[in-house]
Amino acid sequence: MAQPGRAHGAGQQAYSNGPVQNPLMHSSHVSDGQRYNSPGLYSHPIPTKPPLHPSPGQYNYGGSQNVSQLSNYQGPGQTLNRAPVGPISAAPLQHTGSSPQMPPPSQKSAAISSAGSFLPGTNPPALSNWQYGQTTVSQPAGSQTSHFAHVTGAAPTQPSASSPSSLGNTNPPTSYQYAASPGVPPLPNSYMKPGSAPPPVNQPLPSTYPPARPPLGPPPSGGPPLGRPTAAMTSPPNSSVSQALLNSATNQEGDATSATGDGSLVQNSYDAIEGGGFMASTHPSPASQNLKMGRSVGYSYPSLPPGYQNTSPGVPGMQPPPMQYPDGPQSFHQPALGTNHLAASMGSLSLQPEGVRLVNLLQERNILPTAPLQAPIPNLHEDIQKLNCNPELFRCTLTNIPQTQALLNKAKLPLGLLLHPFKDLSQLPVVTSSTIVRCRSCRTYINPFVSFLDQRRWKCNLCYRVNDVPEEFMYNPVTRVYGEPHKRPEVQNATIEFMAPSEYMLRPPQPPVYLFVFDVSHNAIETGYLDTVCQSLLDNLDLLPGNTRTKIGFITFDSTIHFYSLQEGLSQPQMLIVSDIEDVFIPMPENLLVNLNENKELIQDLLRTLPQMFTKSLETQSALGPALQAAFKLMSPTGGRISVFQTQLPSVGVGALKSREEPNQRASAKDIHLTPSTDFYKKLALDCSGQQVAVDLFLLSGQYSDLASLGCISRYSAGSIYYYQSYHHKHNPVQVEKLQKELKRYLTRKIGFEAVMRIRCTKGLSIHTFHGNFFVRSTDLLSLPNVNPDAGYAVQMSVEESLTDMQVVSFQSALLYTSSKGERRIRVHTMCLPVVTTLNDIYLGADVQAITGLLANMAVDRSVSASLSDARDALVNAVIDSLSAYRSSVLSVQQPGLMAPFSLRLFPLYVLALLKQKAFQTGTTARLDERIFTMCQVKNQPLIYLMLMTHPSLYRIDNLTDEGALNINDRTIPQPPILQLSVEKLSRDGAYLMDAGSVMFMWIGKNCGQNFINQVFGVPNYASIPQNMTHLPELDTAESTRILAFISWLREQRPFFPILYIIRDESPLKPSFLQNMIEDRTESALSYYEFLLHIQQQVNK
Ligand SMILES: [Zn+2]
Repeated sequence: MAQPGRAHGAGQQAYSNGPVQNPLMHSSHVSDGQRYNSPGLYSHPIPTKPPLHPSPGQYNYGGSQNVSQLSNYQGPGQTLNRAPVGPISAAPLQHTGSSPQMPPPSQKSAAISSAGSFLPGTNPPALSNWQYGQTTVSQPAGSQTSHFAHVTGAAPTQPSASSPSSLGNTNPPTSYQYAASPGVPPLPNSYMKPGSAPPPVNQPLPSTYPPARPPLGPPPSGGPPLGRPTAAMTSPPNSSVSQALLNSATNQEGDATSATGDGSLVQNSYDAIEGGGFMASTHPSPASQNLKMGRSVGYSYPSLPPGYQNTSPGVPGMQPPPMQYPDGPQSFHQPALGTNHLAASMGSLSLQPEGVRLVNLLQERNILPTAPLQAPIPNLHEDIQKLNCNPELFRCTLTNIPQTQALLNKAKLPLGLLLHPFKDLSQLPVVTSSTIVRCRSCRTYINPFVSFLDQRRWKCNLCYRVNDVPEEFMYNPVTRVYGEPHKRPEVQNATIEFMAPSEYMLRPPQPPVYLFVFDVSHNAIETGYLDTVCQSLLDNLDLLPGNTRTKIGFITFDSTIHFYSLQEGLSQPQMLIVSDIEDVFIPMPENLLVNLNENKELIQDLLRTLPQMFTKSLETQSALGPALQAAFKLMSPTGGRISVFQTQLPSVGVGALKSREEPNQRASAKDIHLTPSTDFYKKLALDCSGQQVAVDLFLLSGQYSDLASLGCISRYSAGSIYYYQSYHHKHNPVQVEKLQKELKRYLTRKIGFEAVMRIRCTKGLSIHTFHGNFFVRSTDLLSLPNVNPDAGYAVQMSVEESLTDMQVVSFQSALLYTSSKGERRIRVHTMCLPVVTTLNDIYLGADVQAITGLLANMAVDRSVSASLSDARDALVNAVIDSLSAYRSSVLSVQQPGLMAPFSLRLFPLYVLALLKQKAFQTGTTARLDERIFTMCQVKNQPLIYLMLMTHPSLYRIDNLTDEGALNINDRTIPQPPILQLSVEKLSRDGAYLMDAGSVMFMWIGKNCGQNFINQVFGVPNYASIPQNMTHLPELDTAESTRILAFISWLREQRPFFPILYIIRDESPLKPSFLQNMIEDRTESALSYYEFLLHIQQQVNK
């Protein structure tokens, strides 16, 4: 076959892995192994571009959570304390013989009776602080709908989403702190919401100051900073300023000694928590109502973002009055954000010379960088850029923001953000101050990208309102100098955490509460998982994040539900069995969740005996739904975390499911069941979310378990999903290690409770679709009953109003949570990006990894709402459309080949990788649950891991050297170059490591050097390397040390534990290894070169 690449570029290295396959590919695939099967026929070739298709910016993926869903959610109106009537008396308390460790029935009955909380007509359960106080609504006997009934009669004392206005828009009197003094006319300032407080006006100062620099954003002001300050600063340091405390050492919780406490000093109104309470909107305006409509159709977004409807950028009143500088040392040194912030011309700064280079993809063979791809650096003045948010935390698909939606549409690239907001950080400034300075209009937290008009006023970089600098903020706790508000840590750090004062609480911070729910059916016991989990819990009990208030509890279930009383004074735990799964109630609720420290021995006792208690059980049924209902009821009063372990399809009670997988249809992209078969799990998740409860799901199953339905319980309650396919303690021992390692991380990682997150952006931009595990509670407030450091999020954006005259825009995420130490904290990240007016600049600043990540999220939604083939088409079209637009609108001279801007040179490769990834591949025999799980990962993983599982890293490891190695804690970590994913790159003389994120393959070539095999495997030759090897021995050789250091370094950097499969050339796992060779053709998918030809054909149409 002719090589088109050669036709266009003499001397270029031609592809050899096109239609002709590398001989290595033909190695016999011996067996299909336990979970890997040979690919079937490729039934869904890459389509030609249909005439009508969504452009990248126009995906209408119905499955995502956009704001229009708000109205669907009614608050959890169910009564939590069951009225002590009716069905309760009928509910038998059983004792089965399956619990030899448990006390005899008589003893149990006695204990239950003495508690009395569940018996008809006797004492109702004791209410804890935040429990519904009224149980006046009696449920009729046998009412099955009570759980989801919206009981309006009960007056919740706790925030509920059904009453968003109850707390939302009321400003406490303190909000007028900044109001003008009588007689002082307000500054002309039209950036106000109608009906809001008067604009901030300074108390008359003895002297006024000229602006230190041009104000940021509109209106563009003329020229560079004026001269040196001339007037004296007369305000003396105020001795009453409360000492702010800066703790920049670590992010350890609780190490910031509070110096606050004076609530009366708090000057912000916090019309609600995080600008809206747990449930209320920041932007109580008529326009916000409109926001809820039309979001799901293309670009039919509302024309006005909330809170800005009365604003316009070019208001003359925003011009700062002529003022003079103060004299003395307090002159402003804030880097200029104004007209001079941009480099003189795009592409001349921050971009490598090659950044502006054109790439002919058909000619350039080696486009994959040998080192991990770095995020592009925004083209900002270096003084600004050095303050910008770390791209690991906050990333935008386009680091040059298009000025108008029309321009964005032309670029055919998606605009959106990828966030990792609660990532573990080694350095995190923590501020304890009674005054958290926020914009009075849009509630933005003061940040490095605001502009100070003078010492007393700052202009919001999101809505351009001019705000006063509170007195306390005049003092810099770091330098201990008065009059340096622009040097405060809040203005010097794009990532910062605040200790939140009481305004940020709607109730006292909840204690850490952990409830474990275990499947103990026959099937579950067979897998042996309970030993591993109970042992891990025993090992890590003292490491659970928490304090003296930590509570813990356990539920087990098969066809019935078993509770465990851990009441103080008992000699051993008591099991209470509830067999009425139709109408679950909680016996002795006060003894089921107990203080961890005070009852540790009983808890340890239970964990030691639990694995043996059900070994003789023959019960095969699974009442997961009722067990979750019980867990929810138990957790509702406090909120907290439910960890549920499930090993099969739920079969009885509410939420029972039927198998929908048809193995012979696995290869087809049609008719696969990606949508939930019941809304039970979603509804229950929303109830959980309303009560600050998150559910984490551990699915350990060898059979189809309908993860599409089960996963909803975690997705909407902001939980995590773990999947251990075919878990078995004996048959699949490598999974045991994986579970152990991941449980350790899971149990000990940081956790935030009762959290909400809001993402704000500069006026003119609008966020419209959210991706991740959470529920959008009100307008744009993400409800996160739990937040963990391993979760990623993504949002899509549009340009609602032209960003005329703006040089930069900013994005800010604020995550309000309760730490496991019971502190209310706010973690804020702010990112600043330049605005551009040309297509070329947009392409120059494209972040190809972020684009790929966002497209993957959108494609999951598309798969669910439309079909897998639709999603695949959309992915391919994203490449075709953007490269077509580049060709027709940017390139002045049409060149042969397939031209791409340097920034997008990896775009086709990454999209091809997505098409071959488990979530989206066709022609595969991958199990449905496995596909769904991969989709869950796409939605919930931070970008870095998503990229690794999409496009693995391949290294040659038989010739590792210390050249360029990292040195970490006296360990030398080799850094071998990354190779292209093609068998062309493999030599039978070598050994290679493929890191695919959650799995690693080490492939040993047949002719691999004997010395290497000796030194690393401790065996004489290739033939003696054992099959099914998953561990490398620790040998006292340089080679062994290097490889082990490299692998463990790779593993340490991620929250999950990748299994290492060591495969020889004839290994049954080889197909899995080869399947990740993205650039090669497989029986069911195009090679990279074929894919490029396809793209070129479409682009040149
Ligand atoms: Zn603002």
